[in-house]
Amino acid sequence: MKTFHCNCGAVVYFENVQCVACGSELGWCPACQTLGSIHADVYGQYHCGDPACGAALTKCYNYAVEQVCNRCVPTAQLSGETEALCDYCRFNDTIPDLSINGNREKWSEIEAAKRRVFYTLDLLGLPYGSAEDGFAVPLSFDFKGDRVAKRFLWFNVGEHEQVYTGHANGKVTINIREADDVEREKARVSLGEAHRTLIGHFRHEMGHYFWDVLVKEKCEADCISVFGDHDNPDYATALQAYYENGAPPGWQSNYISAYATMHPWEDFAESFAAYLDMVSVVDVAFHSSLVDSVDPASADFQALAAEYAQLGLLLNETNRAVGLLDLVPEVHTATILGKIEFVHTLSKNAPGR
Ligand SMILES: [Zn+2]
Ligand SMILES: [Zn+2]
Ligand SMILES: [Zn+2]
Ligand SMILES: [Zn+2]
Repeated sequence: MKTFHCNCGAVVYFENVQCVACGSELGWCPACQTLGSIHADVYGQYHCGDPACGAALTKCYNYAVEQVCNRCVPTAQLSGETEALCDYCRFNDTIPDLSINGNREKWSEIEAAKRRVFYTLDLLGLPYGSAEDGFAVPLSFDFKGDRVAKRFLWFNVGEHEQVYTGHANGKVTINIREADDVEREKARVSLGEAHRTLIGHFRHEMGHYFWDVLVKEKCEADCISVFGDHDNPDYATALQAYYENGAPPGWQSNYISAYATMHPWEDFAESFAAYLDMVSVVDVAFHSSLVDSVDPASADFQALAAEYAQLGLLLNETNRAVGLLDLVPEVHTATILGKIEFVHTLSKNAPGR
């Protein structure tokens, strides 16, 4: 991720909604593909603050009303909709129940993570879309919490309906409990994970999405040669075996995480997430004046992986210096790099780039 500039010259960040230097409101302008100041004219119509652009903009409904977004929609594109949803919010099918205390804050965290993940997908030019866009695998999101049945309600509710974070046919579901820091850290420790983040969840589930979009019935044989046969054993059998026996000893030589050992689909999703981590970390370095880095959007895989390895050493030590978890905890063996390179090549050859 790069940093952006308010029209006053101050540096602003991807999540910001207001410039701390001049007080201007900020928003993502889809016309110039950047975050910058936005200004309302006397009619209340917002415009991009960059005089070279000046596009007429409407704040995303989730920005203007719900305050969980910071993107804008070109006003010219709207045809009287009351809820103008931005290019990222339009994929939301289900949002958390905002009548429950704390859910708006969780939703806000979820949207912030989702925007960062979309930013990297767009940087790579990966193709995604909704049913209206004519996508055979229409992307959509459900953000919801477990429903615990209360007794003595006047209506019937499903008993202890539990929400599973996952992906099915384009629908990515995130249990909003993952936006609760305490709950998420408890889960991380009990599952023995090196990291557990909202961004990581999105990256993993989008890995399943892109398997459906780019691999399924297209290059399954190539994928099998790298990740193994996803039909044998079938997913349900593999899942049960994993929860009974855990990861095989020595898994670190061949898998990016213990969970990746469960089934080739999970291995692919974990490798896809690792690739997006790699691209986004190198992207920070590329836009930093502190290090001389390759451009992750155009670098070949060897250069990208070498850059990430160098940065990993530096950033792990930096984190250790202040007592944080290692930023790049995995050791990238040749086998693991081969899997990540498969994702890289798939991304490079994706249609519509
Ligand atoms: Zn400013
Ligand atoms: Zn603009
Ligand atoms: Zn939005
Ligand atoms: Zn998965």
